Amino acid sequence: ILADHPIVGKLKNHPRDKVAIRHVISGNSYTYGQLSDDIYKWHNILQSKLPSSGNGSRIAIMGENSYQFAVLFFATLMLPKTLAMPLCTNHTSAEIKYQLENSESSTIITPERFVDKVEEFVSPERKLIVFEEFDGNDVEASTSTSESTVSSPSTSDSSTPSGYMLYTSGTSGNPKGVVTPLETYVAQADALTKAWDINSNTAMLQTLPLHHVHGLVIGMTLPLLAGGSVDFLFPFSPKVFVDRITDASLPPINTYTAVPTIYTKLVSYVKQFQSDKEQFEKINSGLHNLHLAMCGSAALPSPLRNDWNKIVGDKVPLLERYGMTETSITLSQPLDPQYRVDGSVGAPVPSVIARLVDPDTSKVIYQSNEKSSHDTEASGELQLAGPVVFKEYWNKPEATSETFTEDGWFRTGDICRADASGNIFILGRASMDIIKSGGEKLSALEIEREILSLEEVDECSVVGVASEEWGQEVAVVAVLSEKGRASNFDLARLKSALKKTLANYKIPKKLLVVESIPRNQMGKVNKKTLVKIFD
Ligand code: ATP
Ligand code: MG
Repeated sequence: ILADHPIVGKLKNHPRDKVAIRHVISGNSYTYGQLSDDIYKWHNILQSKLPSSGNGSRIAIMGENSYQFAVLFFATLMLPKTLAMPLCTNHTSAEIKYQLENSESSTIITPERFVDKVEEFVSPERKLIVFEEFDGNDVEASTSTSESTVSSPSTSDSSTPSGYMLYTSGTSGNPKGVVTPLETYVAQADALTKAWDINSNTAMLQTLPLHHVHGLVIGMTLPLLAGGSVDFLFPFSPKVFVDRITDASLPPINTYTAVPTIYTKLVSYVKQFQSDKEQFEKINSGLHNLHLAMCGSAALPSPLRNDWNKIVGDKVPLLERYGMTETSITLSQPLDPQYRVDGSVGAPVPSVIARLVDPDTSKVIYQSNEKSSHDTEASGELQLAGPVVFKEYWNKPEATSETFTEDGWFRTGDICRADASGNIFILGRASMDIIKSGGEKLSALEIEREILSLEEVDECSVVGVASEEWGQEVAVVAVLSEKGRASNFDLARLKSALKKTLANYKIPKKLLVVESIPRNQMGKVNKKTLVKIFD
């Protein structure tokens, strides 16, 4: 059963004595042999705790980047008709409640230290399994559980596949549970392994949360399925990151992936050492071990790209890619840096086809697998097809049917354009980033990019506010840099600074300076909420 499993079977085939997972803080490491033995043990434990009819349930796993999380996640994937559902340890009680109730989870698995976060949701229909989190080399300890047993799951839905379920980030509304069957998960891993040449030499540093597709699929799954290694560190700390990549006593880290806000923290931490030549060179040689430094989940601002490139030189330029909970990563810049186009997220990864569809006329503007030339200025909704696309939103049949076209394409809700070589540029979400002003459709992301290149601004978010004259007008919420604060940067100066780069109708009409911009776990801004500060 272990050997035949499409995911766990791959883990079992790797050399038993090779290190699969390392904990950065403690330095403990775990081999593939231990990993597959523990997955098997936990699979048996879970099975004994679930009644024989106990299939067709959602099992919520609360945990942070650790060997134990990986064991429990993979063990849960082996249960028939069961979805493994990682929970976010930083979510509020209301957010956790929403996910447990919406998913009708039968079981919560958690280490002792997070019991207080989930205890209140335990009921006769929803049991708790507490595992002992340990950071020693005592593998036996990982298999101990509390006395509680699991009752029949609330629903025993025969159509439920095995696989994983993650909730979307909830940037544009209530998070939706995305059902990803095992075969879709395997297709996602295969596509990205090929796109980025992930292999048994891949040594990933994983600093992202595991309740999100970015950390779960890229950070954890890809290196393990390929027989490489994962170093777990959470939460991200620039100091510990730098300590790890410069630690010559450990195998070098060669692969990293993160969101723009993490790269911002990293760049500003590293910059402090610019005057300390010796330390700076040491950090740089650590960074130069990275074959692949990827960025995604939100647009990569060009000043950040430039700052990063200034620090690490042109040896390790950031690779930007685009993805969603519903599909994992579907568009990526190419591996070879010389073919990357700044500001574009690249082209479809293997097995994925992308097309752009005019939202008003439903006309196909561009399709990635067709050779004919297209209008490179026209923008349209990005739609995707391929084996990596999810099957359904949990318990939301209407949302599911709205998100697929009649001919079976997945509607991403993101508006894009494609250049003549097929490089795709994300202009933003149709629902929040496309501002309709005086008959024009403006991209908030494009305007943000220009504002962020000003030295006076550290962070910004561009929204459309209602205007009688224009329908909507461009407004900016910004966090000023030290320089901006010292020079009393204001709307008049913003307007004159942008005149050089933006057409008149794209220039913001309003500016609100704030201390910080509210962001969710993945560093994303809910603009539907943010725009209310202009009311
Ligand atoms: P919800 O669907 O609940 O509103 P969400 O869409 O933010 O939340 P995710 O699945 O985490 O949830 O994020 C996918 C979205 O993130 C994409 O649809 C896109 O808008 C944005 N995104 C991802 N990568 C990039 C990128 N490189 N550049 C710009 N936007 C990106
Ligand atoms: Mg979404």
